[in-house]
Amino acid sequence: MSPDPGPALRGKLQRALSEFRLLPRVFALAWQAAPRWTSLWLAVILLEGVLPVAALYLTRWLVDTLATHGSAALAAGTWLPPFASLAAILGASRLLAAFSGWIRTAQAERLADHISGLIHEKAVSVDLAQFEHAAFYDRLYRASFESPDRSVALLENSGGLLRGGVSFVAMLGVLASYAWWLPLALLAASLPAVYVVFRYALAQHLLWLKTTSAQRQATYRQWVMTSDLAAAEIRLFGLGNSFRNAYQAIRAYLRQEKLRLEGRHALAALAAGAGSLLIAAFAFALLLTRFAQGLYTLGDLALFFQAFTRSQSVAESLVSQTGQLYRNSLYLSSLFEFLALRSDITTPASPLPPPNTLTTGIAFHKVAFRYPGSTRLALNDFSLSISAGCTTAILGMNGAGKSTLLKLICRFYDPEGGRVEIDGTDLRQLDLEAWRSRVSVLFQQPFHYQAAAVDNIAYGRLEMPAADIEPAARQAAREAGADLLIQELQGGYQALLGKWFDGGTELSTGEWQRVALARACFRNAPVLLLDEPTSAMDPWEETAWLDRFFAYAQGRTAVLVTHRLTTAMRAHHICVLDHGRLVEEGTHRALLAQDGAYARAWSGRPDG
Ligand code: ADP
Repeated sequence: MSPDPGPALRGKLQRALSEFRLLPRVFALAWQAAPRWTSLWLAVILLEGVLPVAALYLTRWLVDTLATHGSAALAAGTWLPPFASLAAILGASRLLAAFSGWIRTAQAERLADHISGLIHEKAVSVDLAQFEHAAFYDRLYRASFESPDRSVALLENSGGLLRGGVSFVAMLGVLASYAWWLPLALLAASLPAVYVVFRYALAQHLLWLKTTSAQRQATYRQWVMTSDLAAAEIRLFGLGNSFRNAYQAIRAYLRQEKLRLEGRHALAALAAGAGSLLIAAFAFALLLTRFAQGLYTLGDLALFFQAFTRSQSVAESLVSQTGQLYRNSLYLSSLFEFLALRSDITTPASPLPPPNTLTTGIAFHKVAFRYPGSTRLALNDFSLSISAGCTTAILGMNGAGKSTLLKLICRFYDPEGGRVEIDGTDLRQLDLEAWRSRVSVLFQQPFHYQAAAVDNIAYGRLEMPAADIEPAARQAAREAGADLLIQELQGGYQALLGKWFDGGTELSTGEWQRVALARACFRNAPVLLLDEPTSAMDPWEETAWLDRFFAYAQGRTAVLVTHRLTTAMRAHHICVLDHGRLVEEGTHRALLAQDGAYARAWSGRPDG
């Protein structure tokens, strides 16, 4: 590797050192996850560090006893105490090694699960707006795919460092008793390796950052090729080869980058290793000269030999542990970055409680809103009143802003101008969680939970007492027109929906929609938002469903986004949106009389 210019190297070194800041945070995580296991782990590591040094001295005792007393030592049994002590220490080391593996696993599993828990907690609570940014997915990918294992590895590195450090310092002391410069020489021999290891760790990390997007691209293609959602289209359009080639091309790029880095590292490591070999050769030459001069005993010889070779291997492992520790802390900076993501959509410091049932209704006042990263306003100078206790139908072309309106009522986003009011209070002043608990939604593309039918419905209101769930789910399913279809499933309400798990049954789009509708009804909320609830229904089914819906919606504030005029006409109030603005509103009769966009849609005339 070519040496870096000064400032760049300084910058890297500063960055390198600053990454070690994360160590205490990882230890804090380990402590939170498993305080007792962490204490045990530390105790074992310290013992493991001290025992090899004790073994060195016991070896010298044994060798010197044998050398001094010769065969008389065997007869007199004087060799027994050092021999027994050495055997005991070596036995204890073995025992500890086995024991520490078990402790490490127990602690590592707890830590990994704790970190996954933190990631999940953050992932389910960040603003929906985050999901609009590719950078968020990069971060999420880095945090969730690497962090749990990296934190465990980092703890192992720290343990290895601590253990190796204790041994190393003690060995350096032993070496210093032979020549003061020996420990220094050993340290100097390790420096090139330290540099190489740091450079390598940093380069690996930078490569990882650089290739996260490519890795996600590969993962995406893999997912498309293996997902049930895409399976039919992949076959029909014959997309398999195209996706496979794209996947292989990305993998080839990633492989090439990795191999280039590994090649450079191998050369640098070779150069660093040569220095260390020279030092070892010199030390052995010195040892033999002194022994030939009669300056050292045979015990000294054994101790020196062991201490030196062991110090070298401990130094090597220390260097590599430090490198790995550094690399793992670099990875973990992504975890802490992810965990530090802040939500903008939050409950204010002194929130107002939302009303249990609305008295006035929901009002949009001159609302301007655009999606994160978008230049176009999805709602523009938008004003609308949704009366409490009534059903308001929202009509409009694709992209008019209908779904956006529902998302703003849920407060998934805040408008950049104007305000949304609930019974006259700005939505931003209300307790967010409490407000959302007053709202039930059927999204345009409801989620298909791979779970029992009853659970698919009960997810609408988790706090329902267990004994009441099934009867309430049946009632909600009746209201949504899903009861019959669930009863006909093998296993009825306990039938597993979706095919991801063994024994599951797949539903049609319309059937899934009705299950989702049942979930919305199960919530039993005063505000009901439905985004194209009848889009997957037959017209004759729709009529029966609408009758049930209006009975269910009685007394609730309902907003019904729809493309179907036959659905809209039954609402108390109809609003027509166009390009993020309200262009018409009134009852069915009033709008027909106006002869505007709504009336034209009924008569089948084009817009004009
Ligand atoms: P509708 O429900 O009336 O079909 P939407 O409310 O979904 O329309 O969308 C309104 C506008 O906002 C459209 O121009 C659409 O392209 C845009 N839009 C919708 N969702 C997003 C998003 N997540 N990011 C950026 N633009 C979006």
